[in-house]
Amino acid sequence: MAKVLIVGAGGVGQVVTHKCAQVPEVFSEIVLASRTEEKCRKIAAQIKRPIRTAQVDADDVPQMTALLEREKPQIVINVALPYQDLPIMDACLAAGIDYLDTANYEPRDTAKFEYSWQWAYDDRYRDRGIMALLGSGFDPGATNVFTAWLQKHEFDTIEVLDIIDCNAGEHGQPFATNFNPEINIREVTARGRYWENGEWRTTDPLSVSKVFPFPDGIGPKKIYLLYHEELESIVKHFPTLRHARFWMTFSDNYLKHLEVLGNVGMTSIEPVMYQGREIVPLQFLKALLPDPSSLGPLTKGRTCIGCLVQGKKGGRDKIAFLYNICDHEAAYREVQSQAISYTTGVPAMIGAKMMLTGKWRGKGVFNMEQFDPDPFMEDMNRYGLPWSVMQVDAPME
Ligand code: NDP
Repeated sequence: MAKVLIVGAGGVGQVVTHKCAQVPEVFSEIVLASRTEEKCRKIAAQIKRPIRTAQVDADDVPQMTALLEREKPQIVINVALPYQDLPIMDACLAAGIDYLDTANYEPRDTAKFEYSWQWAYDDRYRDRGIMALLGSGFDPGATNVFTAWLQKHEFDTIEVLDIIDCNAGEHGQPFATNFNPEINIREVTARGRYWENGEWRTTDPLSVSKVFPFPDGIGPKKIYLLYHEELESIVKHFPTLRHARFWMTFSDNYLKHLEVLGNVGMTSIEPVMYQGREIVPLQFLKALLPDPSSLGPLTKGRTCIGCLVQGKKGGRDKIAFLYNICDHEAAYREVQSQAISYTTGVPAMIGAKMMLTGKWRGKGVFNMEQFDPDPFMEDMNRYGLPWSVMQVDAPME
């Protein structure tokens, strides 16, 4: 029985709050805090159990620390934006409270996936006797656990990893992103990066693509190579991997809009002067685009996110694909959010449950693949993200 403080009342925060509320035997008390308390109240009103709300600017460490000292939760689930990771980690350190997030820290002025800033807290968390679990969403998150599960149950050694993220859903809008537009566009327009024979190699944004045959009737779709943060921790923790890549599907329509917006400078994070004040074009664009939470009732279709692994079992070559399929409309019926927020929010709740029930424990800063994947995988089946594993005949070219 534990009290949880969730920070961030966006699309993911809504799902985390619903899912924690479904598990009262672990999350006996729930407080939802965000910069705009009204958004917290709206989410609380959707849920039968009482959810307390609070206003906080999580960039302000003393303010965040004061909230933690007042509320005294056992754990903070940070589902605000990546910019808030370090201030919230600082506040947890000051108040002596466990921490979990779903995305690595990013400085506002550089779009960058890198764990160095957060891994640097390891000694201080260990000395304080508290735990931080990084990247407990779907990708990163479930994908790290999928890799650990495949290594544990299906292979003797894993050699090649392809993480593949497909959103085969449709929302009917000319252009919209399915999670925070600023974070999403920073990710997609960054240079691609993959691991090959002990080195990182880079590619121009969206310049490498393939067609991948998705299972369960989703069918073939074009996937594009991107860099994603879980590659950094996974290649560190699975040193037998000689090749690791991350892929995502995009519709031609999405890419056409992104190209035009990029060409006219609207996706830039460099500030420009406009009518006497400084604005960041990407932040202005975010203000014009549909709020991802408004896509919930409009989105139909399914997501399929999984890990394709090649390696050896009993001296023989083997390939397996471990994946989850999530239905946008079913997610909306359950928690009033589409599947992108759902697939992130459910693993955040499960990661917190692993920590609170002592199944995953440690002092310091951890990534998901450092723990036993089995209890997490059982809970994926139990709390709405069932998974399947299939044997594959030929490697992806
Ligand atoms: P949203 O933009 O919908 O929500 C973010 C929320 O954080 C908003 O409610 C916002 O404030 C709040 N917030 C922002 N700044 C502050 C601040 N200084 N203090 C307090 N609250 C603040 O984003 P999403 O819900 O789509 O994404 C949440 C997180 O999940 C992001 O970090 C994203 O990168 C991550 N993510 C991870 C995925 C994964 O699979 N691992 C996939 C998708 C997302 P306000 O209350 O003013 O609205």
